[in-house]
Amino acid sequence: MRKNIVAGNWKMNLDINEGDTLLSNILEQPIDSAVTTIIAPPFIHLERFHQMLSGSNIALAAQNCHNQVSGAYTGEVSVKMLKSVGVQYVILGHSERRDYFNEDSITISYKVNHVLEHELRPIYCCGESLEQRKEGVHFDTIEKQIKQGLFHLNEMELRNCIIAYEPIWAIGTGETASPEQAQEIHEFIRSIIAKQYNPMVAEEISILYGGSVKPSNARELFASKDIDGGLVGGASLDAQSFGQLTNSF
Ligand code: PEP
Repeated sequence: MRKNIVAGNWKMNLDINEGDTLLSNILEQPIDSAVTTIIAPPFIHLERFHQMLSGSNIALAAQNCHNQVSGAYTGEVSVKMLKSVGVQYVILGHSERRDYFNEDSITISYKVNHVLEHELRPIYCCGESLEQRKEGVHFDTIEKQIKQGLFHLNEMELRNCIIAYEPIWAIGTGETASPEQAQEIHEFIRSIIAKQYNPMVAEEISILYGGSVKPSNARELFASKDIDGGLVGGASLDAQSFGQLTNSF
């Protein structure tokens, strides 16, 4: 059975002290233990958070990784390094990485492989721009991203992936996809997985929605049949809001 998940993407926010304060405040919130709760802080926090989170139900994610184990890749961080500080999940292909760092789905697919080889779980992001939605090519865009990034995997490997549908026009804009718009895409993603693999795998993969999720809209979004939770930016930087999101199923 697929899991309900709330994952907080802190992006490039909060220094060491600010990060400690936010995590301490999050740890005081009532977090629903039936929900897989994940925090993806900047790299500098990971080792410390691993210690602070021991004994809690909150798991650690990284926001990116490189696809090589080690070597002359200045400024990069490998999955082996992430694993050594307790990371269990890696967000891959966030639209900000695709847009600002020119990552395409093929590049991201190598990272997916690398994460899986180290027995961590990728949170693979996909989503269309406003222009693509206006042109009516959003289904094609998402199908291409999913096919190129994930469909080289075998069934077992795919089962270890989490998918996040994040329409770019809804990220950090305050504008949320309606539950109907999000559900339509989630159902579509499940249908292409069912076609490529089989309906059972499609049913088992958690697909998160991301794009201005907050306590006031989460319950309605998460109630949709194919939405298994959220990848959350802004609202994950507020301890109370983040706690409330885990109680919105
Ligand atoms: C995100 O960064 O993945 C995101 C969805 O951000 P926000 O919740 O702020 O729109």
